[in-house]
Amino acid sequence: MEQGFKKAIPHPNPPRRRGNVAIIGGGAAGCLCAYFLIKAGYEVTVFDKGSPLATLLPTGGGRCNLAHAEYDFKELAKNYPRGEKFLYSVFSRFSTYDTIALFEELEIKTYTQENGRIFPTSNSAKEVREKILERIKKTEFVKEKVTAIEVVEGGYKIISSPSSGGKNSYFFSHVVVATGGKSSFDFLRKLNIKIIPPVPSLVGLNCDIKMPAGIVLKNVLSKDLNIKDDILFTHFGVSGPLIYTISSIKAREKFPYKLSFDLYSFEFELQKLLNLYPHKDFKNILSEIFPLNFAKAILGEFAEIKACKIDGRTRDYILNKVHNFELTVTGTNKGEETVSAGGVDLSEINPKTMDAKKYPNLYFIGEVLDIDGFCGGFNLQNAWSTAFVAAENIKLSN
Ligand SMILES: Cc1cc2nc3c(=O)[nH]c(=O)nc-3n(C[C@H](O)[C@H](O)[C@H](O)COP(=O)(O)OP(=O)(O)OC[C@H]3O[C@@H](n4cnc5c(N)ncnc54)[C@H](O)[C@@H]3O)c2cc1C
Repeated sequence: MEQGFKKAIPHPNPPRRRGNVAIIGGGAAGCLCAYFLIKAGYEVTVFDKGSPLATLLPTGGGRCNLAHAEYDFKELAKNYPRGEKFLYSVFSRFSTYDTIALFEELEIKTYTQENGRIFPTSNSAKEVREKILERIKKTEFVKEKVTAIEVVEGGYKIISSPSSGGKNSYFFSHVVVATGGKSSFDFLRKLNIKIIPPVPSLVGLNCDIKMPAGIVLKNVLSKDLNIKDDILFTHFGVSGPLIYTISSIKAREKFPYKLSFDLYSFEFELQKLLNLYPHKDFKNILSEIFPLNFAKAILGEFAEIKACKIDGRTRDYILNKVHNFELTVTGTNKGEETVSAGGVDLSEINPKTMDAKKYPNLYFIGEVLDIDGFCGGFNLQNAWSTAFVAAENIKLSN
C-alpha cells in the first residue's frame, strides 16, 4: 500500500454512505479532483490499479509541462483537435491563470519557456507528484482495478478486482471516472456509454523513406497543413514536434497517406553556390543547409560529383526533392504515443458539470474523454480544468 493512504474496507453488502465520492483513476485529473474535494471537506476514495500519479512522472521528459501560456480561453481551446467547442465552457471556468494560481497554492512555483510551455521551476515532475500527494493524504486509496460500474438506488456500485483475487464491491453516491485514455473502457460497458475507439496521437510515424536516423531539421514546412516546426528522422520513419502535430491532426486518417514537406523554405540559391564552388563535391555544397549525412542521402548518386559537373536538370531534380519532400505514412510507431484520440463521446457529457447526461452524479474527466490536445501542456490543462468543474458540481449537488 502507498504510504500515507488509508485502506478502504470493502463490504460484501455495500452500505449506503451519503455524500461519499469515489474517483476511479489516480492520475492527473483524478488526484486534482480529489484535492479540490478534500479542500472542501469531502471524504474521497481513489481507486487505481497502479500507483497514484505515476503517470505524471514521464511528463515533459520528467520536467512536467503542466500548462501553456495561452490566457484567452477560446485561443487555448484551439489547441485541441478533439474537444475544442466542448472546452469553451470548461476553460471559461478554469484555464491557464487558474492553473498557475493552483500550483502556487500547492507551493509549486512555475516559469514559462520562450515557446509558451509552463514548467515547475524545479523542472521536476517527481516534485509535483510529491506535493500533490502530500495535499491529498486524507484520500482513501484503493489499489484495485475497477471492472464495472452499476447503477443502484441512490448512487453507483463499483465492482473491482483486487490483486489478491476475487471481487469487491462498494457503494458511492458520486463517482468520478478519470481512467485516462490508454486503459480499457470495458468497465463502462454495462452503462451503455458511447466510446469513440481510441487511436494513438502525438506519436512518431512509420513511413516508406529511410533517411539517416537521429537527424533533426529545424523549421520544416508541412505543405499539407501549412505549419513549420522541427522534424526528427528515425529508424522507423519520422518523429519530433512537427510530426507530433501532424499525427494529432491526422489521428483518424486511414493509412497509408502521403505527406509533403518543404525541408528548406528559406532563400537558397543553389545555382549560385554551384557557381561559387565549382570544385567542391555536391554533398559539401548541400551541407551548407543540411547535416552532411542528410545531404548525402538526399543527393544519392550525385553526392560525390563536383559542382561544375551538375547540369540544370540534376539541380532542379534535387531542388524538387528539397522543396517537395514526399513520404508515405504506413502507421504509427507503437508505444510512442503521448495521448490517445478517442474515449467517452462528448455528446454523452454535460460540459457545465462534467457528469453524464444519462447518469446524474457520474462524472468523466481528463483523457478518458474524447479530448486531446497538441504537445505543450494542453493535455494536463484538460486534466486540471475538467477535474475542477466536476469537483465544483459535486459540491453544488451534495
Ligand atoms: C511520456 C508522456 C509525456 C507526457 N508529457 C506531457 C506534458 O509534458 N504535458 C502535458 O500536458 N501532457 C503530457 N502528457 C499527457 C498527459 O500525461 C495525460 O494527458 C494526462 O496524464 C491524463 O491524465 P488523466 O488523469 O486523465 O489520465 P492518466 O494520467 O492516464 O491516469 C489514469 C489513471 O487511471 C488508472 N486506471 C485506468 N483504468 C483503471 C481501472 N479500470 N481501475 C483502476 N484504475 C484505473 C491508471 O492506472 C492511471 O493511474 C504526456 C504523456 C506521456 C505518455
